[in-house]
Amino acid sequence: MTIPFLDLAAQHRALEPELVEAVRRVFASSAFVLGPEVEAFERSFAAFCGAKHCVGTASGTAALTLLLQAHGIGPGDEVITAANTFIATAEAIVAAGAQPVLVDCREEDALIDPAKIEAAITPRTKAVIPVHLYGQPADLDAVRSVADRHHLLVFEDACQAHGALYKGRTAGSLADGAAFSFYPGKNLGACGDAGCVTTDDAAIARAVRQLRDHGSERKYHHDRIGWNERMDGIQGAILSVKLPYLPAWNARRAAIAAHYRSVLPPHIRPFALHPDRTSSHHLFVVRSERRSALQEHLRARGISTLIHYPVPIHLQPAFAHRGWQHGAFPVAEKLVSEILSLPLYPELKDEQVHAVCAAISSF
Ligand SMILES: *Cc1c(COP(=O)(O)O)cnc(C)c1O
Repeated sequence: MTIPFLDLAAQHRALEPELVEAVRRVFASSAFVLGPEVEAFERSFAAFCGAKHCVGTASGTAALTLLLQAHGIGPGDEVITAANTFIATAEAIVAAGAQPVLVDCREEDALIDPAKIEAAITPRTKAVIPVHLYGQPADLDAVRSVADRHHLLVFEDACQAHGALYKGRTAGSLADGAAFSFYPGKNLGACGDAGCVTTDDAAIARAVRQLRDHGSERKYHHDRIGWNERMDGIQGAILSVKLPYLPAWNARRAAIAAHYRSVLPPHIRPFALHPDRTSSHHLFVVRSERRSALQEHLRARGISTLIHYPVPIHLQPAFAHRGWQHGAFPVAEKLVSEILSLPLYPELKDEQVHAVCAAISSF
């Protein structure tokens, strides 16, 4: 048996008639960029998140960048985020013209450590972007209380957290704004790149709509310098087909994750899940002091694994000019040598789940 890390073909086979019909609608209207399919998806995703507005973008990175810019964050400003995130969180801060400032994570949950945020705040700090890493919301109340003391904005990097809950509220409605990615491998994935901003603030939603479309609301009239970061009509139509399935998909992910947890030997440790939150279970990540041997053991049994992420932001060559040192974020550095992501997606068959469980317990 071979178990790929992800099987998008299986998801699309199951939905093929609906997806083909949706794409056909876009061909008939020729609304290939923005248009009614994108608007319909924006309405349903805003409602799903419990946010007043959703603005579709070309990617999650664009959503983060435009969210910052819509709040006037740019050159001279600093934005705090986690050292152990995907590069895009830090890149978006740079793309907005601001400086990323990093904070270490907590060892037990790999989420930003709220107790370490205060020391990273300077007079230039404008915002904090906690990342709902692996699908579990960061501790928003703790982040908010530090942010409020210093009059900072809080934005969710919810790119891995579609449908996740924090104290009963849905990711995307937990802070001053949120960014989602619909990259194909995310819990809700387009068939290409796409993303969105969610916010309750009508003025911010309007600013993101302008920024994504050359600073314009009326064709050829440009109120500000913007970008070309619009969502495609085909992606909007595809996302509308998939959104109703997301709760069942997340439930299947949760069931598989619970199964994995129940068979982990003591030397293979998962991250803590907090009782006040519901993860979207985007990734199932374990820690092992013998990570390479575990990865090889699984590979020999046909099971593909990945590492999310092998290099923390401060050690990426792209940020060498910032002069961040080895040892600056010790928890993030410790985790990179131990973490391993197992296959976790709704299309996994029961026998594949059992094969992964058997391979883990025999290590
Ligand atoms: C996927 C992801 C992004 C970026 O999304 P894209 O759509 O690929 O631009 C940003 N942050 C995190 C944590 C992600 O996982």
